Amino acid sequence: MNDNLIKILLIDDDEDDYVVTRDLLSEARGLKHTLHWISSYDQAIGKICENKYDVYIVDYRLGERTGLDLLNKATCQGCRAPFILLTGEGDHETDLKAMKAGAADYLVKGEISSPLLERSIRYAIERKRTEERIYHMAFYDSLTNLPNRVLFQDRLRLALANAERYKHMSAVLFLDIDNFKRINDTFGHLLGDRLLKEVAGRLSSIMRKCDSVTRDAPDLFARLGGDEFTVLLNVIGDIQDAARVANRINETISVPFNVDGYEIFITSSIGIAIYPADGEEVDSLLKNADAAMYHAKEHGKNNYQYYKQYMNAAAFERLTMENDLRRALERKEFLLYYQPLIDINTGAITGMEALIRWKHPDGGIVPPSEFIPLAEETGLILPLSEWVLKTACDQSYAWQAEGHKPVPVSVNLSSQQFQQKDFTKTLSRILRESGISPRDLILEITESTVLQNTKTAIASLHELTEMGLLLVIDDFGTGYSSLSYLTSFPIHAIKIDRSFVKEINTDSDNAAIAMAIISMAHSLRLKVIAEGVESGEQLAFLCRQGCDEVQGYLFSPPLPSGEMSKLLQAEAQGDGIGALILKKGIKNVKVV
Ligand code: C2E
Ligand code: CA
Ligand code: CA
Repeated sequence: MNDNLIKILLIDDDEDDYVVTRDLLSEARGLKHTLHWISSYDQAIGKICENKYDVYIVDYRLGERTGLDLLNKATCQGCRAPFILLTGEGDHETDLKAMKAGAADYLVKGEISSPLLERSIRYAIERKRTEERIYHMAFYDSLTNLPNRVLFQDRLRLALANAERYKHMSAVLFLDIDNFKRINDTFGHLLGDRLLKEVAGRLSSIMRKCDSVTRDAPDLFARLGGDEFTVLLNVIGDIQDAARVANRINETISVPFNVDGYEIFITSSIGIAIYPADGEEVDSLLKNADAAMYHAKEHGKNNYQYYKQYMNAAAFERLTMENDLRRALERKEFLLYYQPLIDINTGAITGMEALIRWKHPDGGIVPPSEFIPLAEETGLILPLSEWVLKTACDQSYAWQAEGHKPVPVSVNLSSQQFQQKDFTKTLSRILRESGISPRDLILEITESTVLQNTKTAIASLHELTEMGLLLVIDDFGTGYSSLSYLTSFPIHAIKIDRSFVKEINTDSDNAAIAMAIISMAHSLRLKVIAEGVESGEQLAFLCRQGCDEVQGYLFSPPLPSGEMSKLLQAEAQGDGIGALILKKGIKNVKVV
């Protein structure tokens, strides 16, 4: 609406009344306006659909129909401008009905003065504006200005009713930005929010670009929350139309974004559910599009998937697992197992690695490979990792209190944990609370964690080593970094990944890699640990190459803390597993 000029449509079947109203309006000096007059109900409907007026002044009597009929019809057509009803004589019942139907005011013809009419119009428009603001808050997402979930569901309901009536297909697309959590964790929420706004802008531009004639033009984008968006296609001719929209969205999103001077590359995963094949109701279509989206994620992201029936079973399993996982911390269902690290020359226990287990309420012990990825995806990894650190430190203190020699405990860090801004603070608090020295804690990080966000990573690593902690690069050889590059980081040791150790005696390439890693690490004064040592042959090879420490089933699997206490005790009494196996293991193998 133009701020000054108010566009008024008068709908009245009596020309004399029109003239009266026109004159009253022209006397209203403060009201800059245009007035159009229409005399019939049917004509009025057409005009109202054009949505060009700021206010409608409607006679209650319109031939066969009433002004209330018109108001109801207009509301159904999505008209949102205010209605002022005029009537021949005042009558309380009609007044009430008009109010209920949503009329802005109800004026009795003989009693209208120019100031009264002006005031009524002003109030109606002002009230409507306030209403619009509230409407906007209720139905639009405040960050991106896109429609929100409520509005999306409403429009989808409307689309489905039409689809049913006219027997055509509709589609719902569920879109999720890949690895958005990582962007938030790395760059902070402010930048994350800005990126979401840009994404919303691009999505809207897709809608604007498509002329409404093409069948595959999206009809509505909404933001459900977080990094989840939905798309509504009111009418599709065949299911390929939905795929075309999905492709267009993926293409649009994968053009790099420039936010706060950072060039950010993102991709999205999209799930598609078709009405009526994949669901006939709002909820089922949304749920199934969501399940399909998860499938797209599992297919390596940056793609789209149509919903298939089996997906819900998988989604259900995942959801149950997610819920169980959320409760597992409160219910204290996590355990730490400990696996000893052995000095390859003396056989002494030089450390132990803390490895998490989940004692599931259904019985079994769940290995980390089955829940860590989900924990990372859902953000649960942060409280979980804090629990691991705290438990490992407390256990280390307990062993020392029992009189065992201090043996450092290694803890695996997840990359999200490492990227947390106050990670070093949390860590020093945990150390302080547990009462152990930083020397008794070793952190294992993977190459990719270190490489992901190098500038801040280096800073955090230095902070950690200044606190006196030792750092180990885990799974070494599986990443892409060269050893010499890693020397720019303050690391203490590397762990050769168990995939190399596994074939050290059978695959000459792996043997060569292991040899090269050991000698290069030594030339850089880094200690070398080999993990996954299962056989005497492997041990002998590593021994010959001068590897420093070993870890693996040959010595001991990861053990509950009680069992680990026994190993420590045995060693103190001169009965160490390491020395024993070292002798046995090497003896069984011909030394070349
Ligand atoms: P990882 O850090 O490479 O841990 C070593 C894995 O090798 C452990 O598996 C261990 O049980 C297994 N292992 C030890 N000796 C042998 C052997 O001789 N042969 C073979 N084949 N395997 C051996 P686990 O406990 O299932 O842990 C798997 C991965 O889960 C770990 O790999 C680590 O990346 C992750 N993880 C474990 N605990 C935690 C934790 O507390 N926090 C985080 N963020 N990740 C953890
Ligand atoms: Ca590890
Ligand atoms: Ca490892």
